[in-house]
Amino acid sequence: MHTADPKSNLWTHTAAPAPDYPTLKGERRADVVVVGAGFTGLSAALHAAEGGADTVLLEVHQPGFGASGRNNGQVIPAYSRHNPDDAVKVFGKDRGERLNEMVAGSADLVFDLIAKHDMDCEAVQEGWLQPAHRASRMKGVQIKHDQWAARGAPVEMYDADRAAELTGSPIYHGGWLHRSGGHINPLGYSRGLARAAHAAGAAVHGDSPVQSIDREGGHWRLKLPHGVVRAEKVILATNGYTGNLFPNLRQTIVPLRSTHVATTPLGDNVAKSILPGGHGLSDTRQALWAFRKERYGRIVTTSAPVFTTGARRRMTESTIKRLKTAFPQIEQPEIEYVWEGIIAMTQERLPRYHELAGGMIAALGYSGRGIALGTAVGRMMAQRILGTPAGELALPALPLKPLPMHDLVVPLARTLSWYFRWKDTRD
Ligand SMILES: Cc1cc2nc3c(=O)[nH]c(=O)nc-3n(C[C@H](O)[C@H](O)[C@H](O)COP(=O)(O)OP(=O)(O)OC[C@H]3O[C@@H](n4cnc5c(N)ncnc54)[C@H](O)[C@@H]3O)c2cc1C
Repeated sequence: MHTADPKSNLWTHTAAPAPDYPTLKGERRADVVVVGAGFTGLSAALHAAEGGADTVLLEVHQPGFGASGRNNGQVIPAYSRHNPDDAVKVFGKDRGERLNEMVAGSADLVFDLIAKHDMDCEAVQEGWLQPAHRASRMKGVQIKHDQWAARGAPVEMYDADRAAELTGSPIYHGGWLHRSGGHINPLGYSRGLARAAHAAGAAVHGDSPVQSIDREGGHWRLKLPHGVVRAEKVILATNGYTGNLFPNLRQTIVPLRSTHVATTPLGDNVAKSILPGGHGLSDTRQALWAFRKERYGRIVTTSAPVFTTGARRRMTESTIKRLKTAFPQIEQPEIEYVWEGIIAMTQERLPRYHELAGGMIAALGYSGRGIALGTAVGRMMAQRILGTPAGELALPALPLKPLPMHDLVVPLARTLSWYFRWKDTRD
């Protein structure tokens, strides 16, 4: 089975079932159209509909088809590379601290939405661990911890002994814990958001690819195979799956294929010894190792990308080796699912928000940290549509900056991920 096939993805077998949302047919008017039903678009549609906007949500396949239904499920209220002080340096004190506040509150936002809308998605909010894979990484970990602690985040440091207790792995030198983090079944969460958006009054349409967007009079005209929607406002939430709907948007990010793997369910005793407190874990490697347990005792983890035929076997072998290194108590790990999704990377590893043209806005580029942040940014875009001035948002509206020689950069980025893996073994 091909790893891009949704059936290869563990979550399609374990997420609570959802109805197929209907294809948009005929002509329709709306206040706002949201394109893309991942966390960003779903949260935008939910919050826009709750705010009273007549909202239409359009998705090529069904909600959660993109990265949102294929990820590791770790809800992380922190930047992937940066520290809070960096946000202040880049965006200034006011905006930087507003962004820090949005990031710090983003995991609570996810778990609050799950509770409020009674979503069935294996939600566990026991905290997120970032352990150091090298002793030299402890300094950076301490800085991260201190900067978030200074802003009141519920964080704590731990040493190597405590790391072993928390992770069930002997390989870490200590690390930091963010208590508001956790993990979910990401496809279940996508479906829960879709159900909540629909209940709030949004018209949710699956199997409805937007083919083009044009200006017509004072509004936007979105053309689909079987219909047309006209609206004053448009939110583009297509992230790593962005095509050519708006000139140069696709060229602002690097779409990176990321492969994930789930083991077979582990025996009770072994499962209990791994991440026994129910935490999620993403370590300090640049090509990070991420581990979390799901409800049946499988370990879900990152893996090497699949490039060629025969690579699947090699990749499975290297993942088994990695699992045995991290958790020697799993004597013979077996891989049950292998799948891939697309991560939208930006150079600065921060999401970008754009006000593209008369009432059309977009956000993308979470660089592998989009569960909590995508949900928060989706809400932010809904607030903008509902009238919040651009200057009051947590993210500034940036001009589009297409990457020069984008078609060359994309394959190069894959090579770069191999470079990071090599570097992780050395630094
Ligand atoms: C393997 C993997 C593991 C990850 N692990 C984590 C993790 O543990 N924690 C974390 O925080 N983040 C993680 N991420 C990142 C996270 O999944 C993404 O940042 C997040 O899902 C982005 O959500 P989104 O809504 O912006 O985009 P997506 O979920 O990608 O949604 C975009 C949607 O737009 C649709 N679309 C595109 N074009 C059109 C069109 N023309 N018309 C209609 N619809 C269209 C697509 O079909 C797609 O469903 C991971 C990503 C991957 C791939």
